[in-house]
Amino acid sequence: MECWSIGVAPFSQYSIIPETGSGVFMHEMSIAQSLLDIIKEEMEKHDAKILRAVRLNVGQMTAVVPQALSFCFEVITNGTELEGARLFMDIVPLKGYCPECDVEFTIEDYTFMCPSCGGSKIETIGGQDLSIVEIEVD
Ligand SMILES: [Zn+2]
Repeated sequence: MECWSIGVAPFSQYSIIPETGSGVFMHEMSIAQSLLDIIKEEMEKHDAKILRAVRLNVGQMTAVVPQALSFCFEVITNGTELEGARLFMDIVPLKGYCPECDVEFTIEDYTFMCPSCGGSKIETIGGQDLSIVEIEVD
């Protein structure tokens, strides 16, 4: 068994900014497809045959429903050589930064407001994208 990591920061090309889709699971379906493309490419590079597990960091802002993404991933891998792989997801909370106060904070309930000065000129610094953290293969 082999396990390798795709770091989030140095591999920012693997960051997937989801497009807003319409319809049930369209959002998750397009993400699952993008993930699969990246995973296949990585597996080819490493000459890996069997996909065991994939670990993801899912930013809160992506509005991805983990159960829906799992379901979609299962559907598109069904009947392929990647069938049976497990998808693990860690939700990354939304983080903000206020340049006025030089303070970082967790954004709750999508309230984009600085907790110390009440200002709305904040920058989102985390929880915006979805990245592959680790892929486990045989
Ligand atoms: Zn502030």
